[in-house]
Amino acid sequence: MVHSAKPDLNCTPDGAALRYRCADLISANRELENQVQELGWLLQINDCLSNNLDKDETIESLKKFFLTNFELDEFSLILKTHLGEKLRIAATFGSALKVGKQFALNHSDPLSNHLIHNNQPLYLRDLVIADQLPRFSQMQSGALLCLPLCPLQDQVIGFIVFGKAIRESFSQEEIERFRLLTNHVASVLHKANIYQNTKELAFTDELTGIFNRRYFNQRYQREIGRAKRYKRMLSVLMIDIDHFKKFNDTLGHMQGDRALKEMAGLFEDNIRKADILCRYGGEEFVVILPEIHLEQALTVAEKLRKRVKNRNFIGEQHLPGGKVTISIGAAAFPENGSTADEVLNKADLALYAAKQQGRDKVTAAQDSRKD
Ligand code: GH3
Ligand code: MG
Ligand code: MG
Repeated sequence: MVHSAKPDLNCTPDGAALRYRCADLISANRELENQVQELGWLLQINDCLSNNLDKDETIESLKKFFLTNFELDEFSLILKTHLGEKLRIAATFGSALKVGKQFALNHSDPLSNHLIHNNQPLYLRDLVIADQLPRFSQMQSGALLCLPLCPLQDQVIGFIVFGKAIRESFSQEEIERFRLLTNHVASVLHKANIYQNTKELAFTDELTGIFNRRYFNQRYQREIGRAKRYKRMLSVLMIDIDHFKKFNDTLGHMQGDRALKEMAGLFEDNIRKADILCRYGGEEFVVILPEIHLEQALTVAEKLRKRVKNRNFIGEQHLPGGKVTISIGAAAFPENGSTADEVLNKADLALYAAKQQGRDKVTAAQDSRKD
C-alpha cells in the first residue's frame, strides 16, 4: 500500500517560504479588516450629520456612536462656548458631570489650556500618578486620552475625552485610531456649525437681532400645531409703533433705526424665555405666547405698553405727542380662531381697533363665536 506522505513545511525550503507567505497574508488580511472597520466608523460618523443637520442631534448621535462601538468607561465631548472664553460639556457618558456644565478657560485649568491653545493631544496614562487631575473628568484612576477638535488649521473648537478605568490601557494603535476619528468628528461638527449659523442668519432680523418674519411664519405654525395636539392655549400679540413715520421725519432714519433696536431689547427684557419675539415688518413686532390665554396675554401686552411709555427715547420730546407709544392687538387660540391664520388675523384686527381708538392702547380680539 502506498501512502502519499504530507510534506513537512518546516523541513523544505519551499515550505518555509510558504509559511512566511501565509503569515504575510494573515497580517495583510488583518490590516485590511482594520481599514474596513475604520472606514465603516468614518461613514457612521458622517451619518451622524447627514441624517440630521441639527447640531444638538448631531452631537447626540456622535455620543451614541462612541458608546456603542468602543469600550470606554468615560467619554465627554467638550466644546468652546460661543465667545470662546469658556468650555461647555456638550455630550457625555460614564461621568456624573452634566451636559451644559461650563468651565472657565483660564490659567487655573492648565490641561484644558494645553488642549485648546497648543492643539496637542494629552495622554494621562496613569491618573494615580498624574501631576494633576483634569477638571473636565471625574476619573481618579485609570487612563485618559484627550484629543483636540481642530476642523481648520489653528482653529480648535473643543476636545474629546476618552477614559478607561485601567491605567496604560490605550495602545499606540488605539490612540492613532481615536485621533483619526476625532479629526473626522471635528469636520462633521464644523459642517453642523456652518449649517446652524446659516440657518440663524436666515432667521435673524439684521437690524434688531431678533427673529424675522420668515422664522415667525414657521414657528407660529409649529406652535399652533403643538397647541392643537396637546389641547393647550396660545396667544399672539401684534405690536405696532404709533406714528413712527413722524418719528423718522422728525428725528431722521438713523434715530428711527436706533429706536427700533431699543424697542426690540425692551420687549425681550419683558417677556418669558418661552415667548417668541419676532420683527414682523417695518415697525411691527409680533410675540407668540405659548400656553397663555387671552386674559394673561392682555396683562403682558399692557406691561409692554407701559414700559414703552415710561422709556425715554432720545429726541422724543420733539415729536408731536412728545412720547413714543405703541398699540397692541391680542388674540388667542382657540378662543379667537381654530387656525393659525384666523388667530393672527384677529390679532391684526384688534391692533387696527387700538389704532382707531386713539393709539397707545391694548385691544383684545373679539371672541370668534360672537362674530
Ligand atoms: P400708525 O400709528 O398708524 O402706525 O402710523 P405710522 O406712521 O407708524 O405708520 P406708517 O405705516 O404710516 O409708517 C410706518 C413707518 O415706519 C414708515 C417707515 O418710515 C418706518 N419704518 C419702517 N421700517 C423702518 C426701519 O427699518 N427703520 C426706520 N428708521 N423706519 C422704519
Ligand atoms: Mg405699521
Ligand atoms: Mg406704526
